[in-house]
Amino acid sequence: MDSTKLGAGSKAKLQTHVGLSSYPKQVYEHSLKTGFKFNMMVVGESGLGKATLINSLFDTKIFAENEDSNIVIPSKNVDINTMSTELLDSGVKLRLNVIESAGFGDNINNEDCWKPVVENIESRFDSYLTQENKMPKSKIVDNRVHALIYFIKPTGHSLRAIDINFMKKVHSKVNLIPVVAKADMLTQDDIAGFKQRIMADIQMHGINIFKPTWDSSDSSDMVIETKELVSKIPFAVVGSDSFMVDANGIKRRVRVYPWGIVEVENSAHNDFISFRNMLVKSNMEELKFLTDVSLYEAYRTQKLLSMGHVQDNSVFREFNPSVLYEEERRLQEIKMQKMEAEMNAVFMQKIQEKESKLKQSEEELYARHKDMKLSLEKQRNELEERKKKMETVARPITPMEKKTKKGLFNLS
Ligand code: GDP
Repeated sequence: MDSTKLGAGSKAKLQTHVGLSSYPKQVYEHSLKTGFKFNMMVVGESGLGKATLINSLFDTKIFAENEDSNIVIPSKNVDINTMSTELLDSGVKLRLNVIESAGFGDNINNEDCWKPVVENIESRFDSYLTQENKMPKSKIVDNRVHALIYFIKPTGHSLRAIDINFMKKVHSKVNLIPVVAKADMLTQDDIAGFKQRIMADIQMHGINIFKPTWDSSDSSDMVIETKELVSKIPFAVVGSDSFMVDANGIKRRVRVYPWGIVEVENSAHNDFISFRNMLVKSNMEELKFLTDVSLYEAYRTQKLLSMGHVQDNSVFREFNPSVLYEEERRLQEIKMQKMEAEMNAVFMQKIQEKESKLKQSEEELYARHKDMKLSLEKQRNELEERKKKMETVARPITPMEKKTKKGLFNLS
């Protein structure tokens, strides 16, 4: 069963700045127009502080107050309820859906308590798949689970069979975020050891949990911040619906004990701030992105294969508009490339024609130039010859020459 009801604070302006407006500029500006939408699931046994933590996270009574919240009444079934709330943080709208699995792990035999949760996650994928086949992506209502917060009982030992079994069943379908519930029940040393044993179990059983990542384009501050977040996983958290006003008039969310006070938003007391930063401030978009491109895609492929569809485009095309669009775009691209190649060929041909014409006229010019040079040379030689002749005829005989000629030829 999945019932949807509005949280007690179905429309709430946040008193505390939870971090939506600290988003990267581009995402923030886009979200100013459209608003954020986030679907998170909370799973854990009754009484582990799920409702209190969610209320603390978003500083709103998303879960209605339950006077007998310490008294756990086992329910035979796991009931899935969705609470929808619209939050406003510094002008940014967040449509938050919290999906709760009431009755999880509350029975003597909890072997199958993971089933309703997995079915719910899958039915949300199915609904998305159905919509995807009928309408463009922008019109699809995304009810897929973007993050699943799994509450680990603060035993201080290691993971129990129910934890391992559940996490193994869901880790491939959802961004799994395990947290140590009611961390104020353990000492700092207990928490450190407990976290180590939990992580060792997670690794040993090959369970994938969500961990924020960084890359070379991130600033060094951001890398340090992310590494610090990762080092705190699984976050040991404390929630509370009680407040206290300190000496400076500042209202603080606290748990009051005879021996002292535990502040929810104090990093020296627990990991609430780091957990909220990761979930709301720095990684909400990444969680949604991974749900879409990795978890959902894997589910869809598996589903289509199990339905007997071979994952080739000719089958996908029939019922998937995005594949059809992609196919058309590719065909158009090939057509354009062909046209471009043809135009290039014509262009090259024209250039070659021009080049050979130029070469031809260059040769003609050279030949003419050579002819002219030869004829000028010839003319010059002729002129030279004539000049010599004329010089010989026109020159008067000197008296000496006359004498010589007379003596020689007996001229008078
Ligand atoms: P849920 O059934 O998991 O949703 O648990 P609730 O949020 O209703 O909390 C059950 C009880 O645990 C309530 O009395 C809360 O005040 C208490 N509780 C909630 N969070 C914490 C916590 O962090 N530490 C401690 N010690 N108690 C908590």
